[in-house]
Amino acid sequence: MLVTRTRAEELQALHADAAGCTRCRLAEGRTQVVFGVGNPDADLMFVGEAPGFHEDQQGYPFVGQAGKLLDRLLAGIGLERSDVYVANTLKCRPPGNRDPMPDEKQACEPWLFRQIELIRPKVVATLGNHATKQLTGKETGITRIHGHEQHVSYGSVDVILYPLYHPAAALYTPAMLKVLEEDFRRLPELLGRVLGLTPQARVSQPEPQQPLAVAEPAVQLGLF
Ligand code: URA
Repeated sequence: MLVTRTRAEELQALHADAAGCTRCRLAEGRTQVVFGVGNPDADLMFVGEAPGFHEDQQGYPFVGQAGKLLDRLLAGIGLERSDVYVANTLKCRPPGNRDPMPDEKQACEPWLFRQIELIRPKVVATLGNHATKQLTGKETGITRIHGHEQHVSYGSVDVILYPLYHPAAALYTPAMLKVLEEDFRRLPELLGRVLGLTPQARVSQPEPQQPLAVAEPAVQLGLF
C-alpha cells in the first residue's frame, strides 16, 4: 500500500532526523537544533546564516532583534511569518556567534537542500553573505548582487534566488537598512510575476496541502 504524507509531515520527519544530527562539532555546544519554521507550502522562503543565542534557546530562527526587523519588513509588504518559511544555512549555533566554518556549512547543507526540495518555494530570499554564497555556489558578495534575482535549481526544484542584506547588519547601518527596505519592497512584484497573480490574491488563496509519496530516507537519497 502506498503511504502518503503531507508536505508538513515530511518536514516534521526531516526535523526529527535533524534534531539528532551530530555531523559537525556544533552539535556539542548547542541547546537544540534550530530547524526552521513557517508555512510548509510557502512560495517565499528566507534563508539566514545561523542561530544566535536566542534562537538556540528557543528553537526558532530569527527570534531576536534581527527577527523583529524581518517581521517589520514582512509586514511592510503585507505578509506575516506564517505566510513564509524561514530557515538558516546552519541549524546549530556557532559558539559566540562566530562565522560558520566551511566544513560546518558542508555538513549542514543537505538539511537545507532537503527543506527546499520539500517546500518547493518559488522564491528563495537569502539573507546576507553566507546564505547567498552557499545557495548561489559562487563567491560574489552580497554588496554586488543584493536585489538581483537569478534562476537556480536544487534537485528537481527551480527557484528564483533573491539575495538581500542580512537584517542583523542592517540594524546598525542606516544606509544598508534603506537598501534592504527597497529590495524588500520589490518582493511583491517579483512574487506576483513568478506566480502569475498578485501576492495579495496568493495570500488569500492558500493551496490545499499536497500529499507527497513517502520519500526515501535522506541517507538513501545520497544527501549525506
Ligand atoms: N537569527 C537567525 O536565526 N539567523 C540569522 O542569520 C541571524 C539571526
